[in-house]
Amino acid sequence: MPRPRHRTSSFRKIHVRLPGGETVVHYEKRRPGPARCAICGRPLSGVPRLRPVELRKLPRTAKRPERPFGGMICHECLEKLIKKSVRTQLIARLQELRRAPTAA
Ligand SMILES: [Zn+2]
Repeated sequence: MPRPRHRTSSFRKIHVRLPGGETVVHYEKRRPGPARCAICGRPLSGVPRLRPVELRKLPRTAKRPERPFGGMICHECLEKLIKKSVRTQLIARLQELRRAPTAA
């Protein structure tokens, strides 16, 4: 019989084969859901589904993609954001040039 605190579905059972051939049951907290994009809400790839304790053991580069806003927003939303910001900057620059009379 498992310990009373382990008699709940919030723990997952892991059957571990010991060196002597005996199989014992280990209890582990379930993994969290996948990390999601802050804009579109779809699951982020490249972000491991681990408990915070396990995440702390990983190197920084294994926790999220190595790009701006990696682990926060997905690559498609990032692409859209970058394009949008570049285009608004470009438009602002053109309007500035148009407003100012050509010098010299
Ligand atoms: Zn997204």
